[in-house]
Amino acid sequence: MFFDLHLDLEVYLNENLRKFLKFEKRKLNRLNENLPFDFKQAERVGLKFAVVQLQSLKFENGKLKEIKLNEFLKNYEIFLRKIKKFKKVKIIKSKDDFYSLKKSQIGIILGVEGMYFLKSLKHLDILWKNGIRVFGLTWNFTNSLAGGLNNPEVGVKKFGKEVIFQILKYNGILDLAHSSEKTKIELAEKYPENVIFSHNNLKKFKDFPQNISDKILKLVKRNNILVGLTFLPKSLDENNFLGWKKNYDYLLKFNKKSLALGTDFLGFSFQESAPDCFNFLELNKNFKKFKIKKKLLFDNAYKFFYNKISTWKT
Ligand SMILES: [Zn+2]
Repeated sequence: MFFDLHLDLEVYLNENLRKFLKFEKRKLNRLNENLPFDFKQAERVGLKFAVVQLQSLKFENGKLKEIKLNEFLKNYEIFLRKIKKFKKVKIIKSKDDFYSLKKSQIGIILGVEGMYFLKSLKHLDILWKNGIRVFGLTWNFTNSLAGGLNNPEVGVKKFGKEVIFQILKYNGILDLAHSSEKTKIELAEKYPENVIFSHNNLKKFKDFPQNISDKILKLVKRNNILVGLTFLPKSLDENNFLGWKKNYDYLLKFNKKSLALGTDFLGFSFQESAPDCFNFLELNKNFKKFKIKKKLLFDNAYKFFYNKISTWKT
């Protein structure tokens, strides 16, 4: 089985972002071996859980721009409407949802990738009530909460602290995938039990901003923080399955309890991917071929989310 900590399904179902990534619209309930993901592939390889982070940006006049809360909520409504057409999908917002998940269903946990629209704690409550459970404070740009990847020296801000405090009260999850180095250090030290890195590789192999530094890696080990190793082409020094496997082999030896998968599929132009790792079918083949510990990757993520979900109330 697979547990994907970062599947960009909303990007694909969001017309504006799909155009930005130049994806053609295809039906996701039919098997399409040329797509990074569809629900038939998911069934075939045993994708059981995926975290889907909704975006907080739109593409306009050749640029990525922040959206307001009402636009975010509109995108969210559209996403829910579209996802409901796939009978096999169930959104997990509470422990009741989790315990009633059928064998044939895929559980989706909702998140947000960057909260640029967040202006008050009330807005956060709206997100929680709507079922958002995984919170990325920023994408690459800094905002009023914290520093993003583009500003490594900017940490958590005053408003960010209030927001984080509230997220912790809910026992929500903080996703540091796109946080600045300083924010990562602050939060991974203080709140390791609520922190994940949903789609990140290691700087050891490629000096890419989203990859995790050795300093962060120490915190990851000390606190068994989940790292969803990713197939984002730019994060790999060798853009193919073996490039990903370098990160996997290292983390397996260094701290196997942190090993997880965060494909980032549908979040980047998959034409950039190598043919041996551009979709779930290829991943599954190569996981077998190279004896990747699929169960360990699944179990680590499952245990973490199980502990969180069992405290979630609607
Ligand atoms: Zn991302």
